[in-house]
Amino acid sequence: MGWSIPLIPMIPKRLSLLVPIAVLPSGFGTNSHTSFLSNSVNSSVIASTQSLLANASNTSLGSSSNNSSSSSSSPSRYESQKRRDWDTFGQYLRNNKPPLCFPTFNPSHVLEFLHYLDQFGKTKIHIQTCPYFGVPNPPTACPCPFRQAWGSLDALVGRLRAAYDEHGGNPEINPFGAPEVRRFLREVRDFQAKSRGISYEKKRKRPKKKDGEDYQEP
Ligand SMILES: [Zn+2]
Repeated sequence: MGWSIPLIPMIPKRLSLLVPIAVLPSGFGTNSHTSFLSNSVNSSVIASTQSLLANASNTSLGSSSNNSSSSSSSPSRYESQKRRDWDTFGQYLRNNKPPLCFPTFNPSHVLEFLHYLDQFGKTKIHIQTCPYFGVPNPPTACPCPFRQAWGSLDALVGRLRAAYDEHGGNPEINPFGAPEVRRFLREVRDFQAKSRGISYEKKRKRPKKKDGEDYQEP
């Protein structure tokens, strides 16, 4: 449990429509995630991000009882989620300084976007020095940070990767399938598995998988 569905109830969603993009702080997407978070003018992105990851837990490890491909159970829901993801990422690009637009972004922007989403994470990720590092169900709280769970990010990247292709992007250079993005997701998976004391491997049907196979669409 402890899912990474972002809930930021203090920011009215409709307020976001009144916020001009021009007032967004500079340095967005580089190293100012913290100040970015504290600035309410970014509620438009935040509000979109709520929906962005609202269904991400479908394909994540939140449930150990049903490991079948949940995204295939409701194609229309997957499609609508993919559309929302794409819109949110487009908004993220437009808020960049300087603004970017499809397809003028690269894997670095994808990685920045994934890092940016961590501020909405709800999954406790223990650092190595925490006594609960590797403990699945710690008895008490600890000050370790909340992050987006690997399963959420993995599913999100898969949807955005498909959306990129569907919007006419060149599949050969799809930034969502770039080696650095895949490497990042692998590192997140491996670290979170250790940190949380859980295994992501057991939900995989395939007995043996090669690098990169995690990100294929079902
Ligand atoms: Zn901890």
